[in-house]
Amino acid sequence: MRVYNFSAGPPALPEEVLKRVQSKLLNYENNGMSVMEMSHRSKEYEAINDEAEALLRELMNVPANYSIAFVQGGATTQFESVPLNIYKNGKADYVVTGIWAEKAFKEADKFTDAKCIASSKEKAFSFIPKITKNDIRPDADYLHICHNNTIVGTRFNYIPSSGNVPIVNDMSSSILSEEINVADYGMIYAGAQKNIGPSGATVLIIRNDLLEMSQKICPSMLKWKSHTDAKSIFHTPPTFSIYFSMEIFRWLKEIGGVKAIEKINIDKAKMLYDHIDNSKLFANNVAKEDRSLMNVPFVSPSKEMDAKFLAEAKKAGLVTLAGHNLVGGMRASIYNAMPVAGVKALIEFMKKFEKENS
Ligand code: PMP
Repeated sequence: MRVYNFSAGPPALPEEVLKRVQSKLLNYENNGMSVMEMSHRSKEYEAINDEAEALLRELMNVPANYSIAFVQGGATTQFESVPLNIYKNGKADYVVTGIWAEKAFKEADKFTDAKCIASSKEKAFSFIPKITKNDIRPDADYLHICHNNTIVGTRFNYIPSSGNVPIVNDMSSSILSEEINVADYGMIYAGAQKNIGPSGATVLIIRNDLLEMSQKICPSMLKWKSHTDAKSIFHTPPTFSIYFSMEIFRWLKEIGGVKAIEKINIDKAKMLYDHIDNSKLFANNVAKEDRSLMNVPFVSPSKEMDAKFLAEAKKAGLVTLAGHNLVGGMRASIYNAMPVAGVKALIEFMKKFEKENS
């Protein structure tokens, strides 16, 4: 029996896509082999790579002056790649809204003069600071934000006005979950393992002028232009992960694209937050206007009750609901692949638990 998996990542993948991939696992489109066994230089793989890029471009409406690359190393490798690739005045501004954003900031400080221009750390990252243009150094090479903070469950509900300073956006846990205007950002990066596909690939979307600004010391593997010039085949890419992502992109397009999934995601999140807000047992402790659509943390009155909830939920087929080690409590990650039925099942379980434990 499959369970409802609320993991923050790698999380649930759409069952239809898993089945589709399974049906082609041994013999991909009459090639007599699996995608995993194909040379990355074969024309068959090239077709997969091209389709993945074209579908992502279509789904996100990526403008023509932006390049896309699929690379390895996770979003974490981009923490150092960003300052190595966008470098002119040697200054970069960071908004520290969570643990990942803080890691990005600390890593960047090794390669540029990184400045934290705003942070919500003192309040346990429970809100998103409001940045104005005056907060940003006008000669900063870029402004780094993290659109959705996976661990604490907050989300930028506005785009900072940064003038000519390009915004770099870590969208690891929110890419493809809601419509965005790519042109509002200079660069977007995201580890695949939430809304894109299985772990292994990282997506980069880069405005072309920012491909020409790398530091001399930037290693070739970290240099974005190495990957965009080679159309993601600079070296052996994570072929299966990219192939799987292509199947996810096809699925997303079939169900109506980002616009359609955004509506479903808003409905799912609303249902869950409404339930938590009306509950006397559970609470969500982040600023309402900054709540994430993807990661919904909540707590009960005690650690013991949290543990009881998690154990009983697991028995009911609702798994990976523990909050991140650093924050505890519970966290329901409800990415694109989490069906409405999964959220409803969680709410029903929460109701039953509350009745039995109040
Ligand atoms: N940024 C965010 C917002 C994340 O959620 C994560 C991983 N959960 C990372 C960066 C790090 O990604 P990776 O594990 O792919 O390096």
